[in-house]
Amino acid sequence: MVFSYPLFEIPFIGIYLIVLSFVFGAVFASFITCTAWRVVRGEDWMLGHSHCDTCGHELSTADLFPIISYIALKGKCRYCGSKVPPRDLIFEIILGCVFAGTLALHGAVDAPVVAALVLEVLLLGLSLADWDSGVIPNGFLAAILVVWIMTVGFMPEMQAYAIEGLIASGCVGLLMAIATAVIGKVKKTKMSYGPVKLAMCLMLFLRIRGACIAACVAVVLGIIFALVCKSKKRKIALAPVIAIAVIVALLLKDVPMPFAG
Ligand SMILES: [Zn+2]
Repeated sequence: MVFSYPLFEIPFIGIYLIVLSFVFGAVFASFITCTAWRVVRGEDWMLGHSHCDTCGHELSTADLFPIISYIALKGKCRYCGSKVPPRDLIFEIILGCVFAGTLALHGAVDAPVVAALVLEVLLLGLSLADWDSGVIPNGFLAAILVVWIMTVGFMPEMQAYAIEGLIASGCVGLLMAIATAVIGKVKKTKMSYGPVKLAMCLMLFLRIRGACIAACVAVVLGIIFALVCKSKKRKIALAPVIAIAVIVALLLKDVPMPFAG
């Protein structure tokens, strides 16, 4: 444990850590929205350069400060003056708040909180990729598996739940795979198994109780999302639904993951 609970009892340090976590959240949101965008477009996500979507001008470091650059440039491209959609700004603020909230609720900077923050970044990235392209990139799923392996390896409190997580993952995966196959057969279309794989990866972090909660939340959210997507005449993206459902289950303290301390 690096910083523990008593530290948060000192108001100045507690506030400083929470503000710092907001900044980190905004920075990671900026990184992951950009990564998701590049993965979806088949660009090099590690070495590619950010550029304006309208004029194609490469963005300088001054253009890439999360939140600040957007406000300073009044939501416009510095080079061609075209309007930049506020979407990235919104996600930078959201992930900043989620980071700050995770830390504030947990009250410590330790290995579990780091695992939770990494998971939150990955969930934002794959949700955006699915929303934009209808595909959940396998790279994000592999990264989630790595987080799980590290969590089980380094957090003794999570080891006790590993078997339940594997059972939840297997059961949910099997049910979803059958449902996907049946829907595909009825609709006579080729269905994507990306949401099945995502649910299987995330269920590893839950117990049977949490898996049931997540499944109920996902069904309700899925219906709302389906209606929203239908009104917008677009394909439903299941990754944000599954991601939110699993976070709700974790917030209800299903396992000692640090979303809610
Ligand atoms: Zn431009």
